[in-house]
Amino acid sequence: MRQLNKNINSKNKLKNILSSKDKFKFIFDKITDLITLCDSDFTIIESNHTANIIHGIGESIVGSKCYKVFRNQTKPCIDCPLKDTLKSGSIIPSVNYDERFGEFFEERTYPIISDSGKFDGFILISKNVTKTRELIDKSAQMKKLSALGQISSGVAHDFNNVLTVVLGRVQLMKRQTADQYLINSLDMIEKSALDGASKVRKIQEFARPKKGKLIETIDLKSLIEEVVEITRPKWCDASRIKGILIEPSLELTKDLYIMGDSSDLRNAFTNLIFNAADAMPDGGVLSIKTKKESNTAIVEFKDTGIGMTEETVEKIFDPFFSTKGVLGTGLGMSEVYGIVKRHNGRINVKSKVGIGTTITLSFASVKRTNNNIAYAKPTETLPCRILVVDDEEYILSILHDLLTDQGHTVTTMSSAVEALNDFKENNYDIVITDLGMPEMSGQEIGGKIKKINSSTQVILISGWALNIDENKYLGKTVDFIIKKPFSIEKIVYTISEAVSKIKEIKKQ
Ligand code: ADP
Ligand code: MG
Repeated sequence: MRQLNKNINSKNKLKNILSSKDKFKFIFDKITDLITLCDSDFTIIESNHTANIIHGIGESIVGSKCYKVFRNQTKPCIDCPLKDTLKSGSIIPSVNYDERFGEFFEERTYPIISDSGKFDGFILISKNVTKTRELIDKSAQMKKLSALGQISSGVAHDFNNVLTVVLGRVQLMKRQTADQYLINSLDMIEKSALDGASKVRKIQEFARPKKGKLIETIDLKSLIEEVVEITRPKWCDASRIKGILIEPSLELTKDLYIMGDSSDLRNAFTNLIFNAADAMPDGGVLSIKTKKESNTAIVEFKDTGIGMTEETVEKIFDPFFSTKGVLGTGLGMSEVYGIVKRHNGRINVKSKVGIGTTITLSFASVKRTNNNIAYAKPTETLPCRILVVDDEEYILSILHDLLTDQGHTVTTMSSAVEALNDFKENNYDIVITDLGMPEMSGQEIGGKIKKINSSTQVILISGWALNIDENKYLGKTVDFIIKKPFSIEKIVYTISEAVSKIKEIKKQ
């Protein structure tokens, strides 16, 4: 009943406005653009409410010159949009930065020409376009970054192949020597190659955010300890060089697990640690705590840094929002937000200027499963007959050596067609194939192999950031996916998984 009365009242109100002689004044006063009517001498003869509020501080601006009021000039503006509009016959806007407000205004003029062709005056409309400009700038930046992403993902792919060879060789050599000096040097090379690989991955993930399922069981304690170790040189040691101290304090609950993507979470935690370190230019304490509350795993990053104003907190997840000038990209927190969202988690930011910031993440906790410890303990694997297909000779040779070293019998082929012919005759236990090859894709090869022998396990190796929905292929044409560059452990683990699957199939 009340709602009905309300509707009737508002309808009556509108009817009254329409029948009043001031109906246009009402409409123009409601518009938030600045609207004025000027005579041929640039004198304002009518102005709407917004124009009076902004340029007359509430008083009417009628009688003033438009160039004085709108641009603080003493004579008509050189770039008055009226000139171009009169010349071209179409409305040409001009955008100006108004120093008095620190904002951009777009001005349009609509000339009033009498029947006899005389110029009588004009309507001037000015609109604040600061926000729109910001959006346009952001979108231009996004487009640029997306183009950059496309170029870099191609470079990253080639670079991954190089790193695969370096890492594979180094890891193989480490197994073949007992010379400690050599092992230390190889460790250093391996670390650098892995560092390069992680940079490449960042570029790839930036270019194409992953979809994929969250299939890893993450032990939050060990993942956070790992990230603290990885980031230590960058924030802790670097801070010490500058003569300040950032004290890390960890309070991590044992046996707290979530389902997730370890590389994504590593990335998110790294961003949070770097931001905290940036916020403590004079040193301070960064405490990282985890706890379990019923079925929720909570991770808290608390710093005693400079803190943020409410306005900054509001914008913290905006892509490209940064208060660090050239030192910031403004992509860290938007990335963290995306990652937390992908993990169906929540993120909460609390901050006080001069006191510090607490960022709390919460995820659904799960019980430990086996897939996170399998790396360390691959199951016993009987020697297998493995066919490796890749158009890169270096990759073929490194996989050949890695797998032979594990006791398998390995055949390598650089042509997909030859590989298929060979498979028809020799029927292998496992086929490892590259994703992108000139003759046919890895998925296609997988499909053809599966048609010949459905129990053969197909492992797809890819140097591309897999934006393809992995589940679309997994279990159909492809059984496992390995991303380049890979570690020996990843290969050993995947082969052992493939063998267990073959055993299962044979039992059935
Ligand atoms: P960047 O670090 O490149 O500036 P981010 O997206 O990581 O970009 O962060 C955006 C902004 O959020 C930072 O510039 C900073 O102003 C603010 N911010 C993020 N984390 C903190 C923190 N722990 N303390 C204070 N300010 C922070
Ligand atoms: Mg950052």
